[in-house]
Amino acid sequence: MSDRYQTILLFGAPGAGKGTQGVLLGSIPGFFHMSTGDMFRTLDHHSEIGKLFNQYSSKGELVPDEVTIRMWREYVHAQTVLSLYKSREDLLCLDGIPRTVAQTKAMQEHIEVRGIVHLVATDPEEMVARLQKRAIEQKRADDAKIDVIRNRLDVYERETRPVLDQFDPSLIHEVNAIGTPAEVLGSVLRVLAPIQASMRSTVSS
Ligand code: AMP
Repeated sequence: MSDRYQTILLFGAPGAGKGTQGVLLGSIPGFFHMSTGDMFRTLDHHSEIGKLFNQYSSKGELVPDEVTIRMWREYVHAQTVLSLYKSREDLLCLDGIPRTVAQTKAMQEHIEVRGIVHLVATDPEEMVARLQKRAIEQKRADDAKIDVIRNRLDVYERETRPVLDQFDPSLIHEVNAIGTPAEVLGSVLRVLAPIQASMRSTVSS
């Protein structure tokens, strides 16, 4: 097995349910969920980096690549040191990163992507409705305004969707994002359980 983190990517437009699926997966032994949105939201809002995050996220824009990659590397390292993420045993489930082609390239030397779960929702209005509901429930300023939501969806199409072209198509698994969290989780696990099992057999051999 390579020294790179054995990784799967949760991929999809804002509102597709990456976070919900990530949290569910993270509760299963052997899966470690890491969301860069959550990473940024836990920053002190008065710190330089916290202010930078607010500046971008409040407009629905992405934080610049260099800062994002640096923060992500420090964050993974911290979780490893704390033994929360056990890189030899756990499959790293990345949610919200990489989000640009440049991030994908910068992460290549650190992660080995074993599979990509592409949560697909065909109805954009459904995504908008989900984001608005979540904004109210979680008090998230970035999703509270309709023009910010539209910008997030545009940024996804322009900057993030091309990330998929960076990977071998055999790694990409499309999963229907419409359904209850349990239904979607069932489909996600049908993809990921075999990947995790193959990783475990490599570790034990
Ligand atoms: P999310 O919860 O994943 O939608 O992320 C919320 C916000 O955090 C995004 O709108 C971006 O401003 C920022 N963010 C999260 N992940 C990244 C990333 N990989 N690259 C740049 N910005 C990010």
